[in-house]
Amino acid sequence: MEKIVIIGAGLIGATLALELSQRGRDVTLVDAGLPAGQASGRSFGWINASFSLSEAHFALRVAGMAAHERLARRLPGVHRASGCLWWEEAGAAFDATASRLADAGYPLERLTRAAITAREPALRQPPDEALFFPTEGWVDPAALTRAALAASGARVLSGLGAAIRVRGGRACGVDTPLGPIEADQVVIAAGTGAPALLAPLGLDLPMLHRPGLLLRSAPVGLRLGPILAAPEQELRQEDDGRLLAPAAAFHQSDEGGDLSDPLAQAEAALARIGAMLGLSGLKAERVMQADRPVPGDGLPVVGAVPGVGGLWLSVLHSGVTLAAIVAEGLAAAISGQEMPGVLHPFPPSRLLPPA
Ligand SMILES: Cc1cc2nc3c(=O)[nH]c(=O)nc-3n(C[C@H](O)[C@H](O)[C@H](O)COP(=O)(O)OP(=O)(O)OC[C@H]3O[C@@H](n4cnc5c(N)ncnc54)[C@H](O)[C@@H]3O)c2cc1C
Repeated sequence: MEKIVIIGAGLIGATLALELSQRGRDVTLVDAGLPAGQASGRSFGWINASFSLSEAHFALRVAGMAAHERLARRLPGVHRASGCLWWEEAGAAFDATASRLADAGYPLERLTRAAITAREPALRQPPDEALFFPTEGWVDPAALTRAALAASGARVLSGLGAAIRVRGGRACGVDTPLGPIEADQVVIAAGTGAPALLAPLGLDLPMLHRPGLLLRSAPVGLRLGPILAAPEQELRQEDDGRLLAPAAAFHQSDEGGDLSDPLAQAEAALARIGAMLGLSGLKAERVMQADRPVPGDGLPVVGAVPGVGGLWLSVLHSGVTLAAIVAEGLAAAISGQEMPGVLHPFPPSRLLPPA
């Protein structure tokens, strides 16, 4: 049986392990920490294509949403088809987004203020107009990571930093503090740890520094329906009543916000959320910092590492939205099949010229 080692037991490694195990591969994951201990455990978990950076990126995200539906049928109970209520200041930018998405065939409803209130009565000051994206939703990425790992039957070695072994120009396993693990193929699903794994091979993967801050509140006494994506704040509710929200304003921008005072950022986010929902005394139970794994041009990197046989790479932001399609595509490629066309524009070779 072909042996595959995946470095990284976040959501990407876990969903890939599931796909590869179901293709009959013997899969071992090695993680320096615990499964979902990095970005996948501190992520907003929104699955969407209303945000995208290019046409190819939009197509990939749409395919990612469809792949999540397939995954949800195999791992029931984790996905939440909440829809998303999105708005920004009324005007040209709002109209342009609505037209762009509608022209691309993206499911949406354009809502008036009365329809917004009907959709989400908890909003204290609804905007004049909003878009509702009925096919968007969320997962708890840590829960999905655990579910995928359990269903995969793969073995997980936690608390072990790995380094790639190369013999004769081919990846042949990993070195760990407990000794080597031999493999026929190796996958780097190590998030922000990918550059350090590639550097000893003479490969320099550029990354953007995109720190994020997420807060989880104490449970609140109201029930939100959709994800709320307002210009000043994104927000959703967990099943247990807790609110989850990015704590850094402008977190989707190039700057990532000022994280020098995380508690002040969290308090400011709670104040914004309180105003949106008419809640006072909101408290953060947890404030979580994590660096987003964002390759140097901002777009996903998925595929074969150039110049090293049997070595594969997946590094990406929006890795929750894209986990299922990336896992399907990489599993196909590792098995010698063609990757889905939507992944073709994102090869590692565009950022990693062979050493
Ligand atoms: C605040 C925040 C909000 C986000 N919101 C969203 C969202 O709403 N929607 C969305 O689609 N995406 C979102 N993302 C992005 C998404 O969470 C990530 O793209 C995704 O979790 C990446 O998963 P991963 O498995 O590649 O990386 P990770 O979850 O970081 O896992 C990588 C693993 O590799 C391990 N590792 C690293 N180096 C080594 C080594 N040398 N040896 C062994 N193990 C190693 C680490 O310990 C880690 O467990 C968000 C991210 C953040 C931080």
